[in-house]
Amino acid sequence: MFTRQDAETLDQTDPLRDYRQRFRLPEGMIYLDGNSLGPAPKSVFEELASAAGTEWADDLITSWNKAGWFKLTDTLGDRVGQLVGAAPGQCVVCDTTSINIYKALHAALSLRPDRTVIVSEGGSFPTDLYMIDGVIQTRPDLTVRLEGRDAVTLEELIDETVAVVLVNQVDYRSGRIRDMAKVTEQAHKAGAIVVWDLCHSAGNMPVDLDGCDADFAVGCSYKYLNGGPGAPAFIYAARRHHGQFRQPLSGWWGHQAPFEFNQNYQADPGIRAMLCGTQPILSLRAMKAGLDAVADVDLQLIRQKSMAMTDLFIRLVEERCEGYGLSLFSPREARMRGSQVSFRHENGFAIVQALIDRKVIGDFRKPDIMRFGFAPLYLRFADVWDAADHLEQVLRTEEWRQDRFQVKGEVT
Ligand SMILES: *Cc1c(COP(=O)(O)O)cnc(C)c1O
Repeated sequence: MFTRQDAETLDQTDPLRDYRQRFRLPEGMIYLDGNSLGPAPKSVFEELASAAGTEWADDLITSWNKAGWFKLTDTLGDRVGQLVGAAPGQCVVCDTTSINIYKALHAALSLRPDRTVIVSEGGSFPTDLYMIDGVIQTRPDLTVRLEGRDAVTLEELIDETVAVVLVNQVDYRSGRIRDMAKVTEQAHKAGAIVVWDLCHSAGNMPVDLDGCDADFAVGCSYKYLNGGPGAPAFIYAARRHHGQFRQPLSGWWGHQAPFEFNQNYQADPGIRAMLCGTQPILSLRAMKAGLDAVADVDLQLIRQKSMAMTDLFIRLVEERCEGYGLSLFSPREARMRGSQVSFRHENGFAIVQALIDRKVIGDFRKPDIMRFGFAPLYLRFADVWDAADHLEQVLRTEEWRQDRFQVKGEVT
C-alpha cells in the first residue's frame, strides 16, 4: 500500500518543491484544473500595479517606447519560444488561440496554393474544427478530412493533395501525446505543412519545434503557462517560411513599418507578419508574470514529475476505487500521456461537482469524462494522494447523488 506518508516523502525530495511558493493557491484547495486555467503567480499583482499604476497612469503614451509595450509581443514571444524549442524571432504573443489557428491555416494554405485539403482530428478541441470551418467559408474550394471520421488514423489521411495538417500535440480530453517529429516528417514527405496546437503541452513538457522541423504552431498561455484568464496566445512560424507566407488579418501591427502610415499593406519580413492590431498590454503583463514563474525551471524535471504524479494518481485510483465503474481514458503508459489523467464514469459530471464541493477542483468533458490536470510546478504528491482519497470517499458514500451536484453551470 502506498500511504500518505510515502507521498510526503516524495515531496521532501522533489527538486521542484519550492516553486509552489511562487503561486497564490487558496488554502485547503487541491487544484487539478491548471490545464484549463493556471493559478495566479504571486508576482502578478506587482506586475499589474506597475503596468497600470505607473506606466499607464503616470507615463501614458510614452510607455509604448519607454516601458517596451510595443515589443512585448516579441519579447514575450521569444520567452515562450524558449519553452517550446523555438530559436528567437519565430514566436509572437498575440490574440487568441482560435484567431491564431485561423492565421496559421491561411498562412499554410498560402504556401501550398495548388492544394485544397485540410487534415485534422475529429476529436480535436472544437474551436480548432470551428476555425477550419471558418477558413472553408473563405475558400469554398477546400475540403477537410478528419481522423475518426474519414479514416482511423491521421497518417492514412495525409497524401500529396493535402495542404495543411492541423493537429494537437496533446489531446485535451485523453491527454494522449502525438509524436511531433514523426507526424511532421510524414506530412513533409507528402509535401504538406503542419500546424501544431500546443495548448496542452506548452509549459508542462519539453517541446522541440525547431528540432522537429515544425512549420507553424499555436497555443494558449492561460493553461500551463499561468498567464491569467484570457491571456494572449502565441503563434510560431519557422524562419524558413518568413517572408513567404501570407495571413489574411493584415492589420497595421503586421506591417513592416506601422508608423510610416503608408496606404498599402506590406507585411513585416519576420514573425511580426502574424500580428494584426493593438494588443492588450495589461493582459500581456499578467502573462509575463506567468512566464517569470517558469523561466528558470528545467522542463525535463517538470516532465519527470508530471509522469510520476499521473502514474501515482492512476495507481491510487485503481487500487482504491475498484468496482465503482471508473475506467481509465488516458493512455496507461506515462510516455504517451500529457500532464493530465482522465477517467470515464457515467455519472462523471456529478462526481466532479461533489469533488469540487470538497475543494478538489477537476473538470468534466462530454460525454462522461472527468479530467484531472497535474501541474508539476505547484502540486505536491500529497495532493495527488488526497485527491484519490476524496474520489474514493465520493464514490463510496455516493454523495454525488445529491441534487445540487446535478446542476450544470455555463462553464463546465
Ligand atoms: C484551450 C484550447 C483552445 C482555446 O482557444 P481560445 O481561442 O484561447 O479560447 C484552443 N485549442 C485547444 C486545443 C485548447 O485546448
